[in-house]
Amino acid sequence: MTPLADAAWGNFYNKLAYKCRKAEKLFVQIDSFYPSSKTCPRCLHKFEDLILAMRQWICPHCGQHNQRDYAAALNIKRQGIMQLKAGGHTVLRQ
Ligand SMILES: [Zn+2]
Repeated sequence: MTPLADAAWGNFYNKLAYKCRKAEKLFVQIDSFYPSSKTCPRCLHKFEDLILAMRQWICPHCGQHNQRDYAAALNIKRQGIMQLKAGGHTVLRQ
């Protein structure tokens, strides 16, 4: 990512964190190197051969058909919930 793109994301995160604090909501940020697109949301197998042009893939471990962005969203959500639970928070809706 370019320095400008990094700065834009950093600015976005700062504003989002501020808004969350103001609304008394929790803000959770996952590791930017977490392989959210490459991880099967069903079995958590990491598909190392996934390239950017592949928008969907079949998990070689469990056979799950994954759409790249949807799988990433599910994995990011799971990581966020794990961080909240690790921090002692109760998550009501998963
Ligand atoms: Zn799988």
